Amino acid sequence: MKKIFIRSTLVYILFSTIVPTFFLTVLAGFNLPEKTDFDEEIKVTESEEFHEITGKIRKGETLFDIFKHYELNLNDLFSLKEASASIYKLRYLRVNQPYRIRLDENKQINSFTYWIDEDTILNITCGEEGFCAEKIPVPYEKKIEHIGGVIQDNLISALGHGKESLVLAQNLSDIFAWDIDFTTDIRKGDTFRLVAEGFYLNGTLKKYGNILSAEVINNGKAYRAYRFTDEEGTDYYDASGKSLKKTFLRAPLNFRRISSTFSNGRYHPILKITRPHHGVDYAAPEGTPVSAAGDGSVVFAGRRGQYGNLVILKHPGGYQTYYGHLSKIHERLRQGTEVSQGSLIGLVGSTGLATGPHLHFEMRINDRPINPLSISVPRGSDITVKSTVKFERLKAEQDVELASIPPGNFLAIEGKRHGNPGSSEG
Ligand SMILES: [Zn+2]
Repeated sequence: MKKIFIRSTLVYILFSTIVPTFFLTVLAGFNLPEKTDFDEEIKVTESEEFHEITGKIRKGETLFDIFKHYELNLNDLFSLKEASASIYKLRYLRVNQPYRIRLDENKQINSFTYWIDEDTILNITCGEEGFCAEKIPVPYEKKIEHIGGVIQDNLISALGHGKESLVLAQNLSDIFAWDIDFTTDIRKGDTFRLVAEGFYLNGTLKKYGNILSAEVINNGKAYRAYRFTDEEGTDYYDASGKSLKKTFLRAPLNFRRISSTFSNGRYHPILKITRPHHGVDYAAPEGTPVSAAGDGSVVFAGRRGQYGNLVILKHPGGYQTYYGHLSKIHERLRQGTEVSQGSLIGLVGSTGLATGPHLHFEMRINDRPINPLSISVPRGSDITVKSTVKFERLKAEQDVELASIPPGNFLAIEGKRHGNPGSSEG
C-alpha cells in the first residue's frame, strides 16, 4: 500500500480592493472572545443619561450571575425573563454571545440587548407599560465580494481556514458537485473566481451570503455558474442556461460532508483514486461519510462476501450504484428505503477484501458495469424560454464582475511562493 502524505498548505488569496482586511477578519472569526479575564472583558461605560454594561456570555454564566455581579435589581431580572418568555427563553444564553445592559440614573434597567445568533438580536426595552421584548434582525450592510485564488492543495486551504471561508468553500463545492469532485479532481494550479454577498457590521465582514457567480478552472477546463431566480425558483446555471444539477453527483464522497467531518482545524483530503476493476476505489480515512450519488431506493444493505458491508441503490433509467467495504451502513437503510441524492448512506471502512480503508464505488446500467467517471448523465431543467432575456442580462453583468478579478494577480501572488515552505508529495 502506498504511504499517505498530507501536503503542507500554501495559501494564496487575493481580494478586491474593497476589503483589504477581510482575511484577518475571517481568521478572527465571528464573536471570538478576547482572552482576558472577566472584569477586563466587560467594560462599564458611562454616558450622561445611561450607564452601560457590555460583555460576552461566559461558559456556564446566567443572567442571574451577571445581575449579581453588578448588583442590579433582581426584580428587573424577573421582569426581563417574563417579557421575553414568549419569544426567547433567557434561561439559555449561548457562550460568547454579546449582550448590553443600559441602566438609568437609579440603576434600573432601561434596556437589555442580547445577540441570539449571527442573524438575530433580542431587544428588551422598558416603556410605560413595563418591559417589551422583540427580536430584530442584525442590521448587516451587504456588499459584493470578489474573491479569487490559485489552489495548491485543496479549496479550503486556498480560501483560508476561518469558519466563514470553510462555509464559502463548501457552498462553492455544492454548486459544482455534479461536475467537479473537489476531493480528487482538483489539481495544483487550478484557479477559482467568485462573486459573493458579504455581510458587514461596523465595517467588518461577518459572514458570506449567496455566491452569485463562480468560475473554476479545473485541469484546464473552465466551469461557470450563475445564480438565477425565476418563477421556477432559484438555481445555478451554466453559461448556456442549463441547470448544473444532474442525475448523479460527480462522486459519492461529498466535499461538504468530508470537510465538515474533518474540519477540526485542518481539512483531511481524500488522497487517491484508482480504477482497478469494474469500479472506482477512493482511498479515504476510515469514517469518511459516503453519500448517495443519486435519488433512488435501497436494493441491498448488509454484508456480502468480498464487498464487506455493501449498499446497493437502484435509480431511474436502469442504473444501480454499489458502495462497498463500509465500516458502517446507515441504520435507517433497509431494502426499499428511499434515499435522496447526497444523503448519508454509510462510512468508509475496510470490511470484506480490502487492504486499507477505501470506498469501492461501482455503477451499473441494466446490471452491466459502466465507468462512473466517464458516463454522461442527463442534466436538470434549462432556463425557460420566457426567462432567457433576463438570464442573459444577469450573465452579462456577472461576467463583468468575474472579469474584474484579474487573472494577472494570480501571477503576482504566485511570485511570493518562493519565500514559503514548499509542498511535498507522496
Ligand atoms: Zn474496489
